[in-house]
Amino acid sequence: MDARLLELLVCPICKGSLQYDRDAQELVCPRDKLAYPIRDDIPLLLVDLARDLEAPAAADASVAETGAEASVSDQP
Ligand SMILES: [Zn+2]
Repeated sequence: MDARLLELLVCPICKGSLQYDRDAQELVCPRDKLAYPIRDDIPLLLVDLARDLEAPAAADASVAETGAEASVSDQP
């Protein structure tokens, strides 16, 4: 992606500058903890398409639920 283009792009939420993740092909907003996808070299700065970096992965969520159930069953 063009570095000059990247400098012009800002987060649609906080208007802050974005970090280009070359491997993931995403533009990351460190303030909002969101990653906007890049498709065919076109950054899609849409909140609806952004990935929440703080959201746990599906596998982690199921482990957390199992742990919660176990702790509950330990209660008298
Ligand atoms: Zn932002």
